[in-house]
Amino acid sequence: EHIANQIAAGEVVERPASVVKELVENAIDAKSSRIDIHIGEGGLEYIRVQDNGQGIAADDCETAFYRHATSKLTDDRDLYQITSLGFRGEALPSIAAVSKVELLSSATDDGAGRRLVIEGGTLKVNEDEAAPRGTDFRVNSLFYNTPARLKYMKTVQTELGHISDVMYRMSLAHPEIAFTFRHNGNLLLQTPGTGDMLQVIAAVYGTSAAKMVLPLEGENLDYQIGGYIGRPEISKSSRNAMSIVVNGRYIRNYAVNQAILRAYHTLLPINRYPLAVLQLTMHPSLVDVNVHPSKMEVRFSKEAELMLFVEEAIRQTLRKEIL
Ligand code: ADP
Ligand code: MG
Repeated sequence: EHIANQIAAGEVVERPASVVKELVENAIDAKSSRIDIHIGEGGLEYIRVQDNGQGIAADDCETAFYRHATSKLTDDRDLYQITSLGFRGEALPSIAAVSKVELLSSATDDGAGRRLVIEGGTLKVNEDEAAPRGTDFRVNSLFYNTPARLKYMKTVQTELGHISDVMYRMSLAHPEIAFTFRHNGNLLLQTPGTGDMLQVIAAVYGTSAAKMVLPLEGENLDYQIGGYIGRPEISKSSRNAMSIVVNGRYIRNYAVNQAILRAYHTLLPINRYPLAVLQLTMHPSLVDVNVHPSKMEVRFSKEAELMLFVEEAIRQTLRKEIL
């Protein structure tokens, strides 16, 4: 039985890091308090995400791999008020189409669970198996059946770099979740899950960097900003040092990056980027996340106003603490 197709997969599953992002987002949506990520050979050998969240009921496991079988939207109008990270129901079918997936999940505390094996979109195993509450998701041999895609993959180091970037941002966006991240068995990141973002900054950027950041605060009628920005001395050579979290979702946004840089412009030379973790909160109607399947790009309905707000909040913090 074929439950997915490869063509649609291309949009969601660009590289191993996209798989990690989708699986971790699902674990977050399932209200997990701890998430353990294991990667082998840049994710091309295996990607495993274990969570202690709500789990998937035995009878729903197979359905979860059908396109648009999301459990997260109850109404079309929800698309404009999205609070969960996932909502398209595209990730699991797309991933399963281009890899060998093994799912073990339980939605109960009685030890009963379900195991599924799907290879290249074909269901091979669907059986009862003992499992703790939560979900254990393994993706083996990514792109094994799409040689063109596989060939396009860069070195293990490059893919690992993309995955690490996803993991840093996910953990910064969710200080309340305890993450571990291992590559080829080596522990690369561990966060305590206490809710304290400063501890996550210490885990990601080092304890000395965490002593060089300033808390960000501000609000107006539409927006609230929190998080931390780095003193100019700990600026980086990569714009990846700027992380933007909107309503708990980490995003990429050129305009916000520019607003951050404008606030710093007298303090940093060109080609240096501040360490910044921005936490923006706004009514869901002010941000459209339904722009691209990866859900990483968003559109703000009052962009100009938001950019002024961000720039001014950062400038005020810098003025108070540095200038
Ligand atoms: P979406 O996240 O857009 O709903 P996905 O394809 O990523 O779609 O997942 C399909 C469904 O599988 C989800 O809606 C959810 O019900 C279930 N699911 C996937 N991963 C998990 C998980 N780790 N824990 C609990 N449920 C999950
Ligand atoms: Mg999802």
